[in-house]
Amino acid sequence: MHAIHERLCANLGSVQARIDAAARSSGRSSDSIRLVAVTKQVDTTTAQALVGLGVTDLGESRPQELMRKHEALRGAIRWHLIGPLQRNKARRTLPLTCLIHSADRPDLLPWIERLALELGLEPEVLLEINISGEAAKHGLAADAAERLLGDAGRLERVRIRGLMTMAPYDPNPERARPVFAALRELRDRVRRHAPPRATLDELSMGMSGDFEVAIQEGATIVRIGSALFEGL
Ligand SMILES: *Cc1c(COP(=O)(O)O)cnc(C)c1O
Repeated sequence: MHAIHERLCANLGSVQARIDAAARSSGRSSDSIRLVAVTKQVDTTTAQALVGLGVTDLGESRPQELMRKHEALRGAIRWHLIGPLQRNKARRTLPLTCLIHSADRPDLLPWIERLALELGLEPEVLLEINISGEAAKHGLAADAAERLLGDAGRLERVRIRGLMTMAPYDPNPERARPVFAALRELRDRVRRHAPPRATLDELSMGMSGDFEVAIQEGATIVRIGSALFEGL
């Protein structure tokens, strides 16, 4: 247990130092970047240790696992759903989640809206965008996202806070830069016509392999898993 704690502490320190350096290199304050620790590959003990080190935001890709860890962990934790919102679990997931990163189909928003109305919630969501156009990736095409935002004025409950994307895997993080830049440009373009409730101030982009580049391209949220758990 002690060894796990030391290792986590060192990994977290190093990730935070890299976030700070990337922010500074692009003239930003690291306060403008939120670290979401992705705990999908670790057990509750390790996730709890991370919370003990001061991490406040945890991300899970499966609703079932989010619910399980939500139940088991102690502390003021903001839960992020970073994978598909499964309809049959949404009623239980929605109240536990501070931000859904993965609204990836047009029919999802009216459906979340109805559920939110019923449950008395104002869920915050990001539209997941498939910038690279890879068939295997989740996400809306850019033009579909634009259309969706055109209709978003009808949403009284759901708040569209921004956009999310995943870059295709590549050992060279520079290859991800155009993807992240394109997400930021899309956001800047659609924000001009978006209804006031769709603030579009968040860009969730950057994972262990490419978060520094994402920060340089404007990420406000980075989702980091493996870099925090190296050597455990
Ligand atoms: C797993 C996952 C991450 C974290 O990936 P790492 O490479 O382990 O940092 C980030 N975002 C999403 C959507 C994920 O599924």
